[in-house]
Amino acid sequence: MKGKRVLITGAAGFLGSHLCDRFMAEGAEVIAMDNLITGDLKNIEHLFADERFSFYHHDVSTFVHVPGHLDYIMHFASPASPIDYLKIPIQTLKVGSLGTHNLLGLAKAKGARILVASTSEVYGDPEEHPQSESYWGNVNPIGPRGVYDEAKRFQEAMTMAYHRFHGLETRIVRIFNTYGPRMRLNDGRVLPAFIGQALRGEDFTVFGDGSQTRSFCYVDDLVEGIYRLLMSDVVEPVNIGNPDEITIREFADEIIALTDAKTKISYEALPHDDPKKRRPDIAKAKALLDWKPKVHRSEGLRKTLDYFRQLDEEDLYKKEHKHFEKYIKR
Ligand code: UDP
Repeated sequence: MKGKRVLITGAAGFLGSHLCDRFMAEGAEVIAMDNLITGDLKNIEHLFADERFSFYHHDVSTFVHVPGHLDYIMHFASPASPIDYLKIPIQTLKVGSLGTHNLLGLAKAKGARILVASTSEVYGDPEEHPQSESYWGNVNPIGPRGVYDEAKRFQEAMTMAYHRFHGLETRIVRIFNTYGPRMRLNDGRVLPAFIGQALRGEDFTVFGDGSQTRSFCYVDDLVEGIYRLLMSDVVEPVNIGNPDEITIREFADEIIALTDAKTKISYEALPHDDPKKRRPDIAKAKALLDWKPKVHRSEGLRKTLDYFRQLDEEDLYKKEHKHFEKYIKR
């Protein structure tokens, strides 16, 4: 990666910031971009002193200009939790669709290879289990999650069209539930929700009866899979995730045990179109990228808890990211 220039969008977010770290460690020059609605500069401030790192405060849903050449583009800008989709639905739709279009155009202009972050949400509430890449999905286009799911499905279609029509070098990763340090504590996703509740001494909010399943991948494993995909010649989408499936009720019990929380479980309504089960089939990633996850949940959860424990009181209790507020329609 020495001498290579990489644009990372969503760079101040959870996954984007870990990608910045990885590409910096590989010796690349990293151009980080984020509009900071859900991202936080705290996640990348340790990189600012390095002359190989630069940051642009920009919304990629509008025209993207980057001076100089680019070798790689990693498109990771997007709200990423169901609560965010409810609060900022239009931004979610725009960054997945218009943002992707702008970055594909930029990749074409620069002759860069582009990798776009897709999602297990393209499978919707799946009728096939586990989900392999050949499954077309079961998505409600007009439900509240549709703004994310359909934008990401459009993103995949647009990316394949640029590959087929313009010969662009494209990669598509379908990311399953991922966790680790730098998740936003108040983003509403299940892991930060439970850990935040444990640290504040509140009851755990389990949605529905907690029998729905998810399969959680530690962020370091995910980043390794993404890096391998970028370096491969695989154009079709590839699932990256950990197939270790667990019910949300069991997950709550694991976090209660880990944190010694003296809290109860309060059952709340299941969100609209909440998938009943989710587990990646990772045969393709194993065969084509020689990749499989290595970090067991017990180890990953411990590292994640250590991160959340060192946050200050203000982070623990704040309701929204400071840039988020002004985008929410009341
Ligand atoms: N969930 C929950 N309590 C919470 C937040 C989420 O029980 O406080 C459930 C949610 O209904 C879903 C699962 O945990 O079934 C994972 O939700 P998350 O928002 O983390 O991600 P998703 O996989 O649904 O995109």
